[in-house]
Amino acid sequence: MARRRQIYEGKAKILYEGPEPGTLIQYFKDDATAFNAQKKGTINGKGVLNNRISEHVFTMLDHIGVPTHFIRRLNMREQLIRQVEIVPIEVVVRNVAAGSLSKRLGIEEGVKLPRTIIEYYYKDDALGDPMVTDEHIACFGWASQEEMHDIADLAIRVNDFLSGMFAAIGIRLVDFKLEFGRVWDNDFGRIILADEISPDGCRLWDMATNEKLDKDRFRRDLGGEVEAYQEVARRLGLLPEGGDTAVLDLEEHRKSRGK
Ligand code: 5GP
Repeated sequence: MARRRQIYEGKAKILYEGPEPGTLIQYFKDDATAFNAQKKGTINGKGVLNNRISEHVFTMLDHIGVPTHFIRRLNMREQLIRQVEIVPIEVVVRNVAAGSLSKRLGIEEGVKLPRTIIEYYYKDDALGDPMVTDEHIACFGWASQEEMHDIADLAIRVNDFLSGMFAAIGIRLVDFKLEFGRVWDNDFGRIILADEISPDGCRLWDMATNEKLDKDRFRRDLGGEVEAYQEVARRLGLLPEGGDTAVLDLEEHRKSRGK
């Protein structure tokens, strides 16, 4: 089989040309970076877990009518996605003070915010993804006012849905990052959810113990990264209850058991 053409390699994912025009294959790596790639490492099995978790979340979001780039999972580490024109903005949604918000404004981590905050960061590694406002986005033409309206609307819908989904399994959705892309139907551009939703880009705290079940375990040298990601997958019902934790692909597992 011909080697697939690589379109892009990011810190945690690789994009390859897809089987049909307008599609790409998103490959999930085990590589982990933090602090604008100043800290680098590997979390064994992370790619497999993030592929599965993100598939689940995007499928659920599709069920409630949120348009996404996800088409289907192909195997343990790859999913087929729609090719989009990425909007160069990271959209961060916050429900509880943590991370850079706590640092910047001196608000203790864990304080519930009286209302949800949406922040925008310009995607530029060389600049360290600086925070920007709607004014910058409009001024530099990164997205239109109408697109920003759709993005904010979708971000709130995703937040409401995910907060409930995680609360149901005893997890507090503290904050998370989303990315959006544009797809074209003739001359009409439409905004859809892109990238991934996984413990790499979310803060997920156990509701009972406040234990961190996300990439902060890596960022803050807490250890137990894989176990934390596995715990999220397990509570979402993506790993067999009480089964071998090495079983990361349910379909393979079913096949091997002849079911
Ligand atoms: P903070 O601004 O507090 O560092 O991050 C806020 C939220 O957005 C966290 O859940 C964090 O995981 C996510 N986030 C912000 N920037 C990035 C990024 O460049 N990559 C990933 N994976 N997540 C990010």
